[in-house]
Amino acid sequence: MTRIRANCPGCGEVDLTPPDVTLRIMRASDGLVGDGSTYRFLCPACDELVTKPADERIAQLLSTGGVPIEELEDIDAILQTLLPPHPERPASGPAFTADDVLAMHELLQGDDWFERLLTP
Ligand SMILES: [Zn+2]
Repeated sequence: MTRIRANCPGCGEVDLTPPDVTLRIMRASDGLVGDGSTYRFLCPACDELVTKPADERIAQLLSTGGVPIEELEDIDAILQTLLPPHPERPASGPAFTADDVLAMHELLQGDDWFERLLTP
């Protein structure tokens, strides 16, 4: 089995096998390995979980060595589908003007304003 040499911040260089390493890839818009991609492993010497950023070259090396790639969805794309439109996004229709305010003011002077508002 391929041996993978990685660096633990506490222990220095350690030897791993492909099943020891988790490679998580976040694709950039151009299809390449993007920001947020990582690889992680449990250090065999100190048992610390080590997580490091993975770029295109590292991802290539690890996957060639037999580490399976976990593709992560783009979090921004997921949020776009889950969240409602921004609350400050203006509603459709013409903007409310000073003339509209004046018309509303005059309407409210009468006693039948509510009935008039209900009439299309
Ligand atoms: Zn270590």
